[in-house]
Amino acid sequence: MQEVFLNNNASTKVDPEVLDAMLPYFCEHYGNPSNLHSFGREAKEAIEQAREQVADFLNAKPEEIYFTSGGTESNNLAIKGILRANIDHGNHIITSKIEHDSVLRTIEFLEKMRYIETDSIAVDEFGTVVADQLEQYLTNNTILVSIMHSNNEVGTIQPIKKLTAIAHNKEVYFHTDAVASAGKIPIDVADLDVDLLTLSAHKFHGPKGVGCLYIKESVKIEKIIYGGEQERGMRAGTENLAGIVGLGKAAHIAKNHLNRGGPQKIENLRNHFEAEITSRINDIKINGHPTQRYCSILNVSFAAVNHQQLIESLDQAGIKVSSGSVCETDQYKTSYVLQAMNVEEKYLNNQVRFGLSKYTTQDEINYTIDVLVNLVKHLRSNKKS
Ligand code: PMP
Repeated sequence: MQEVFLNNNASTKVDPEVLDAMLPYFCEHYGNPSNLHSFGREAKEAIEQAREQVADFLNAKPEEIYFTSGGTESNNLAIKGILRANIDHGNHIITSKIEHDSVLRTIEFLEKMRYIETDSIAVDEFGTVVADQLEQYLTNNTILVSIMHSNNEVGTIQPIKKLTAIAHNKEVYFHTDAVASAGKIPIDVADLDVDLLTLSAHKFHGPKGVGCLYIKESVKIEKIIYGGEQERGMRAGTENLAGIVGLGKAAHIAKNHLNRGGPQKIENLRNHFEAEITSRINDIKINGHPTQRYCSILNVSFAAVNHQQLIESLDQAGIKVSSGSVCETDQYKTSYVLQAMNVEEKYLNNQVRFGLSKYTTQDEINYTIDVLVNLVKHLRSNKKS
């Protein structure tokens, strides 16, 4: 049976070149980067090289990159770190209704503890943040706006430059979670004019458990993890040496992939997939923005289909997909992103998210289309009988 991995929004295959770059840092160059002997220095140099690679990928300065354990920690550091350092100026934080749980749950906790006040911006039917609401919510008490670069469930790319300009007009810091965008859309922190930006390696063919936070030089922020002086005192804990090397290499490869038109090839495949299922299966809805949507995602609702059954049947046919965000404990519960987009009831509880990557082939997509067409027909006819 053919195995087709179409769950690349959840995690991606490590690029073999990334793995090759990482391997020597387990059993050969395994020094602690804080040590002054040659093993330690080698490890430190590897980390600094990765910092340069990530900075180059984002058009940042190397000293503006702080390595963390991934997207979740970076989002926590951005929000809690800004609050701690700027509490004298205010405690109001603005975010959107479709952020990842690592932003939403952090905000929810801080609000519950009465540390902050918060407002949450709505999205339109395509999942685009309503920029005018940001203007309305900003007050003299606002210290941070956190809005994702693109949404991981439906792929909608947010108007970050416009939003940053609105926040900066009131001298408020702007953080963006770019975990879903990395490797798919060019990210230039200077052009976007963001103050903080989150990345996670495993979403762009790097290893799991490592990421970074870009922090613009002028930003006032405090650490949230106490211990040693690693990462210039911003993030205590012995560095994930091999992971950081992997993140650097993945960023370097992703930059070349973007420069060589890699996303366009993936988008062509995605568009073929979308066109075929739209013409061959009736009563479906493509979720997300028709054009402002990143290349590799196809989120589809199938009316009158139980998506749990559909996902399980696809798995039996070798095709790996998920419904919404994999960070939800209940994979099949109603998506808060689709709810925020006011998706009609008949399309609300039957979404499947297909995620392509640079490794996805035309053959795999054609196989998936045929399986999907038959399965949807079969599940719908079973429901009627
Ligand atoms: N933000 C977004 C948009 C994500 O999709 C994810 C992972 N699903 C995260 C943050 C968390 O990243 P990590 O898995 O590295 O903790």
